[in-house]
Amino acid sequence: MSDCLFCKIIAGEIPANKIFEDKDVFAFHDIGAQAPHHFLVIPKKHIATLNDADDTALIGKLALTASKIAKELGIADDGYRVVMNCNEDGGQTVYHIHLHCLGGRPLTWPPG
Ligand code: AMP
Ligand code: ZN
Repeated sequence: MSDCLFCKIIAGEIPANKIFEDKDVFAFHDIGAQAPHHFLVIPKKHIATLNDADDTALIGKLALTASKIAKELGIADDGYRVVMNCNEDGGQTVYHIHLHCLGGRPLTWPPG
């Protein structure tokens, strides 16, 4: 997708603070961090919303990648939150799916 922000980040056309990358996924720090640790895990394949996803292994890999990074960052034992916003009511603003991972402080529930 030529005008997708996250596709451009994957392609290196827009800079990002990369944490991890393999053939399937890309992880980077969120530019508007809402917690001491806030990073995004995205598929390299463009998928606009969770409603458009059909690759079970790939969607699962987003979660396991978040867990792996959380362990490396040292926040896994205290805990963290993973969330994927979908469409307008879910608060999605970038239409290339991304798993948010937030940690480093106690998080309240329910979200707004
Ligand atoms: P969402 O509202 O769930 O679609 O989340 C989009 C997220 O992308 C927000 O948390 C933004 O802060 C983040 N974001 C937007 N642009 C960038 C960027 N250039 N680099 C890193 N994160 C970004
Ligand atoms: Zn994209």
